[in-house]
Amino acid sequence: MSQKEILMGLTRESTNNEIKKAAFDLTWDIRFIAMATVEEGMPHARIFDMTLLDDGNIYFITATGKPTFDQLLANPNIVITGVTKDWLAVRINAMVKETDDPVIKEKFLEKNQGTKSLYSNSPDALRYFKLEKGEGEISHLYADDMIARLRFGWNGVDPRPFIYHIDEEKCTACGVCHDVCVGKSIRPGDKYSIDYFNCLECGSCYRKCPEGAVLKKK
Ligand code: SF4
Ligand code: SF4
Repeated sequence: MSQKEILMGLTRESTNNEIKKAAFDLTWDIRFIAMATVEEGMPHARIFDMTLLDDGNIYFITATGKPTFDQLLANPNIVITGVTKDWLAVRINAMVKETDDPVIKEKFLEKNQGTKSLYSNSPDALRYFKLEKGEGEISHLYADDMIARLRFGWNGVDPRPFIYHIDEEKCTACGVCHDVCVGKSIRPGDKYSIDYFNCLECGSCYRKCPEGAVLKKK
């Protein structure tokens, strides 16, 4: 099996929970990660410190005086995304929820001694948030710009669907999509199909199919 068939030890056959765990572990490895919130329809991004605790959930803190806190109160949806120097990347879209659990707070500060020290004279300024539910993706971008990717969801949220699909009824197996596919992710056959593990979602197959057999679903 080539390197591009495996992503962080996972394959196309890996379970949703295995992918989620890999994504959360990768987030903890990156730790200081870009996080976007929304305020009045506009995105706001900054680097945040994400912490994986032993309950398997990711937490972060902010202070009540910060704009981030107000944004989260108004709209609890965030996106975090980051990449390692080896080009392993994670993206998570999540709804966050504040927690008052003293055990979680203690465990969080145990792993964040800098925060504990910084707010030692004003600990009540801190608010603790958990990534409650959402969906995400891990990916590996290679030197030749090929990609391997896997998606997951948790707490009732489905993985984000890929947007390009081949309608078998319309496909004449002409091979045009295979020839223009930049991700080498079109599988030939009586009816052609897309292997989403290596799909870049570039849309070349959609634009070039002479039969209109590649559908785009948002
Ligand atoms: S280009 Fe369209 S019709 Fe041709 S193989 Fe691909 S999906 Fe089928
Ligand atoms: S969206 Fe791009 S990478 Fe994915 S199957 Fe179509 S042409 Fe290939």
